[in-house]
Amino acid sequence: MPTLQSLRKSAHWKPVGVPDPSGSTVSADSVFKRLSTRRRAVGSSANGVRAHKKWTPADFELGRKLGKGKFGRVYCVREKASGFVCALKVMSKEEIVSYKVEKQFVREIEIQANLRHTNCLRLYGWFYDEKNVYLILEYAAKGELYKMLKDCKRFDEPRTSYYIYQVANALVYLHRKHIIHRDLKPENILIHFHNQVKLSDFGWSVYAPQDTRRTTMCGTLDYLPPEMVEAKSHDEKVDVWALGVLLYELLVGRPPFEDEHSSTTYKRIAKVDLKIPQFVSSEAADLIKGLLRYDPVKRMKLEDVSKHPWMVKNRPLWQKLRE
Ligand code: AMP
Repeated sequence: MPTLQSLRKSAHWKPVGVPDPSGSTVSADSVFKRLSTRRRAVGSSANGVRAHKKWTPADFELGRKLGKGKFGRVYCVREKASGFVCALKVMSKEEIVSYKVEKQFVREIEIQANLRHTNCLRLYGWFYDEKNVYLILEYAAKGELYKMLKDCKRFDEPRTSYYIYQVANALVYLHRKHIIHRDLKPENILIHFHNQVKLSDFGWSVYAPQDTRRTTMCGTLDYLPPEMVEAKSHDEKVDVWALGVLLYELLVGRPPFEDEHSSTTYKRIAKVDLKIPQFVSSEAADLIKGLLRYDPVKRMKLEDVSKHPWMVKNRPLWQKLRE
């Protein structure tokens, strides 16, 4: 019986695949070649990381290990020539290929490399050698929001409102670029100094030009919207729903439709079986309800989140969080 925690971490609708028994790496070269040919087109001119350089691991001084994800380890590193501190994600090519996530991986890089917003984690560049692919990422000093949340159990309303405000800004930016994130959750939000939000993990993101609807079921169980649970097509409003789930989880300490049995979670999502605890203020509850509407069209507009009375009430308290 999986624990809620393991469910949460692994409940992707579309399994990432099982290792290829043949261990074939046939497609690896073509996939990684595609990345390297695009590197020049995107380039990187950010804060001290030189553009158009053919990087190697020797260009970086290795610092502490920041964490371990499904496909690799992340280190704090300093680029030797500039002294610029960033994060280096090291992923085994063989693992990426054996789990059949090459396409997802390439799409993630292509999307993230083109983002320029203070609340979206920058991807400065990438390179690879025989064994690994290396992503040069913006460093987020405080790490995962998920870990911070587990440490405090739940956040107070001023802190939550500040995080939600920044995530909403990141999503407005993405949607203007016709990108749907599709996997918003505290695990995919990193926090930098001054409580600055850095939205990361664009593995499920998709570029969806206007008026196109998607059918891939993806994301994480607790954050799935009714249209995905009911196997309907979806658009960028899935991120609005996920923002509502995130808001609830940050204030309450657990997501709104969580259940021991995933089938019950699906049912609760489809019915929007929402129970908001008494300790949540009426203004925050109103925002949660505005985001968690069954009908995607009726969900609140992301642009209106920052103008909501709960945000207006809490805004004067954000200065302390920025210090
Ligand atoms: P990931 O493989 O992206 O899931 O990352 C694994 C862990 O490394 C995360 O849970 C974070 O704690 C940490 N991490 C990843 N990227 C960064 C970053 N850019 N800055 C700081 N910590 C990071």
